[in-house]
Amino acid sequence: MIRQKPADRKGAYDRIGLSGRFALLSLALLLAVTALAWTAARESGQRQAAVFAKQLAIERAGSVAALAAGTLSRDPYGAERAAQSAAALFPTSAGALVGPGGETLAVWGDSEALLRGAPIHVPIGEGDHVLGQVRLAVPTTAATGALSGASAIFVAQMAALLALAIAVMGVMVRGVTRPLQRLTQFAQQMSAHSMGSKIDIRSGDEIGTLAQSFNAMLGRLDESMRSVQQLAFIDSVTGFPNQERLRGEIDGTIDRCRENGAMAGLAVISFDRLSRTVETLGRTGGEELVLALSQRLATAVAGADATVRLTESRDNPAILAKISDNEFAVLLPSLADEGNFERFVQLICAPFGRPFEHRETRVVLGCNAGAVSLPGDGAEADLALRHGRMALAAARSASQPMRFFTPSLDRAAIERLTLEREMRVAIEANQFRAHFQPKVCLRTGRIIGAEALARWNRPDGIAVGPVRFIPLAEEAGMIGPIAEAVLRDACWKAAGWLREGLDMSVAVNVSAIQLGDDRFPALVRRLLEQSGLKPSALELEITESVAMDDPERAMRMVGPLRELGVRFAIDDFGTGHSSLAALTRLPFDVLKIDQSFVRCLSTDKQSVSIIETILALAVSLNFESVAEGVETELEAEFLRRRGCPIAQGYHYGKPMPPLEFLATLRAAEERRAQRIAL
Ligand code: C2E
Ligand code: MG
Ligand code: MG
Repeated sequence: MIRQKPADRKGAYDRIGLSGRFALLSLALLLAVTALAWTAARESGQRQAAVFAKQLAIERAGSVAALAAGTLSRDPYGAERAAQSAAALFPTSAGALVGPGGETLAVWGDSEALLRGAPIHVPIGEGDHVLGQVRLAVPTTAATGALSGASAIFVAQMAALLALAIAVMGVMVRGVTRPLQRLTQFAQQMSAHSMGSKIDIRSGDEIGTLAQSFNAMLGRLDESMRSVQQLAFIDSVTGFPNQERLRGEIDGTIDRCRENGAMAGLAVISFDRLSRTVETLGRTGGEELVLALSQRLATAVAGADATVRLTESRDNPAILAKISDNEFAVLLPSLADEGNFERFVQLICAPFGRPFEHRETRVVLGCNAGAVSLPGDGAEADLALRHGRMALAAARSASQPMRFFTPSLDRAAIERLTLEREMRVAIEANQFRAHFQPKVCLRTGRIIGAEALARWNRPDGIAVGPVRFIPLAEEAGMIGPIAEAVLRDACWKAAGWLREGLDMSVAVNVSAIQLGDDRFPALVRRLLEQSGLKPSALELEITESVAMDDPERAMRMVGPLRELGVRFAIDDFGTGHSSLAALTRLPFDVLKIDQSFVRCLSTDKQSVSIIETILALAVSLNFESVAEGVETELEAEFLRRRGCPIAQGYHYGKPMPPLEFLATLRAAEERRAQRIAL
């Protein structure tokens, strides 16, 4: 036999609820009261029966005594006869006739009954004429167990009354427990489903009040839950799911794909210049722009869903999420193939070639995307997002609209992490220094200045070029100390050359991040003061793309330093998208012709015309021009003839450490002095 566990019994007890418990209690009460009434009635019946039996016995004993007195007065030996007559008269009684001396004269009936209990003694005869005694047993057994009719009726009445009381109480209790049951059921529903509904109990009593409070509490709870969910899972500006929510969707999609062998896709999308533009527009303006952008993106996603994913999209639409300040993501829960995916991403990026008209300004926000095939390239959400971001970074650095994730990107990311770690150590060890490349006056051949170029002088003796570490330093937020080290080197060295009587200027490159840092002008001022370099001997180079990206900011930054006397150059000119209007407004002094045009001079006629046009433009805008990447005398000759005043390139010297540069400078000065002497 399986014994029920106590916990189960308790569970069963709990499950029967309040009404069940009341019914059980009532039943137990009914049984107990009936038993009590039964016992009481039984005892009173017994007592009445005993009294009645004794009375009967006394009466009988009296009759027997009278009978015996008659018989014995006539015949002193007639006791036997008298006993027989008594036995015949009262066949249910037992008794004995006892002589005056206590001797038993005759016995009838059950003599044992005489010995049990206390028999009735009645004298035979009267006064002095006593002939003996009648002893008669009291018939107690006859009364035992007998319940009088009156008692039975009493018990029945009691039970009926009690049953009625219980029934009335039951109805009353049900009136209380029913709303409570409904409250309980409602609470269960709430915990299982939503908290949106309300309980409909309109009684005016405490339970009605309780139900109303319950409804009010639910309303407030529902509201708080909603706002908590909003905060936790929804982006506040766009109303799109945020990264947290997207993670759950990605995991669900990956599981489904695994179950039915399907393919899905995730694209992480970012917009060039978005953070900076939002920052410039301020909070409200920035949010408006992000909202407009997200609406354009949502329309593009719906369009791409309809054209590329066709019918599936209706059941399984693409999910658009905002996963960081500058990043959106699109999850395609089902896809036919990678080609399909690529087409989808191209379609959603396409509308961002068009400028945004925002508060009377036109903003062009280029769009890049990193695509990940699921579940192949992302076994779970975090990995999928990480790979999407890697592909996005690769697309951005290659200036491509989109890139698919490949395992080689992962390897590159690990290498980058290693490099980043090494760079942090190198900054501490002051391994970032400036090398100097001569700038030459094409007319006189004199070195008139130098460009300071960052080098990472590793302890193994290798000088790493900036192309490897500057972009990473910018991304990892380490450009500040590196740029400061180069600028400090440049100022101190140039001040030293000037003190030696060498009339030289020094050019230093400024990154987009530095240009965006409001502390930059103060840093330049401080280093100029500390080194003692005159401001006019310092030239700051800003690449054309950075300057044109945000001309207003460039102007704000350049203005005060230029007033101090610092000169400004537009680096790599010809590769960006300068508008003539912006160019005339920007307070620059120098145009540095990008080396790609110089390198193609002998092979590409177009480069010839471009250089001629830039030189003409520089003259008309009153800019000085510098040609970069001059490697041959032929190129130098061409530039000289076209009136280019300054050249820089391997033809005159590669970037070199300060001491080597100083030696080169002195040697050149000596040669010049000798030429003049001759
Ligand atoms: P950039 O400012 O346009 O510098 C000119 C680059 O062309 C330098 O490369 C220089 O070594 C190279 N170069 C000069 N003449 C010739 C030539 O005749 N032929 C060839 N093939 N190359 C020549 P580098 O030093 O590798 O610097 C690359 C870029 O890194 C620089 O381009 C500049 O944009 C950036 N950079 C360098 N130093 C710094 C720095 O301190 N801060 C910042 N923000 N960027 C820097
Ligand atoms: Mg430069
Ligand atoms: Mg350049």
